[in-house]
Amino acid sequence: MIDYRAARLRMVEYQIARRGIRDLAVLEALSAVPREEFVPEALRDYAYDDTALPIAHGQTISQPYIVALMAEAAGLTGASKVLEIGAGSGYAAAVMAEIAGHVVTIERLATLAAQATARLQRLGYANVEVISGDGTAGCAGQAPFDAILSAAGTRKVPPAWKEQLAVGGRLVLPLGPLGDQTLMKIVRTSDSDYTQRPLVDVRFVPLIEGPG
Ligand code: SAH
Repeated sequence: MIDYRAARLRMVEYQIARRGIRDLAVLEALSAVPREEFVPEALRDYAYDDTALPIAHGQTISQPYIVALMAEAAGLTGASKVLEIGAGSGYAAAVMAEIAGHVVTIERLATLAAQATARLQRLGYANVEVISGDGTAGCAGQAPFDAILSAAGTRKVPPAWKEQLAVGGRLVLPLGPLGDQTLMKIVRTSDSDYTQRPLVDVRFVPLIEGPG
């Protein structure tokens, strides 16, 4: 029987802090979220491995380091309102919900959305709202967002995501064709201006438009 808490703290030290993640809130969030609850039963003992893991329907739960890097790049505080595209297991949403005031996460596959909703509720994440549907159009009803993060890769930035950023808001997303994606950080510096910078090469599942 694995001591998940001990494994989690080792993961934060060796995979996250030693690789340069400095944001204390992010380190604390990853120390708090029980990743073993977000992976399939048969993979629980691998929950703190340094890797993405398969969930249902050919999707994946992201590597912890990438979740940490994205959360740090998103510059989250207790006042942040966050939009995630691609809830998957709900793990990254839980990590962000440990820091941010409110997290809206959209998942295209209805079964995954339902499972993530139930799991987050069971674990007590009352500040996460899971929406079942296509996240390409963002969530205009709750915009603007202080941070928008995509867990699925696109060749082009969906215009709605940039439009739904608050001025000063951060958009973090994998950009580029499958097999050649770069994690990008886009900052809305004024109503009409955005800056963009690459963070690291990544491998994410593709954003799929349309209903699941
Ligand atoms: N954040 C997740 C990682 C999920 S992988 C976690 O921590 O587990 C990316 C997810 O994006 C997949 O579940 C996939 O179904 C979803 N996805 C792909 N295209 C989408 C779209 N257009 N809208 C919403 N979700 C989408």
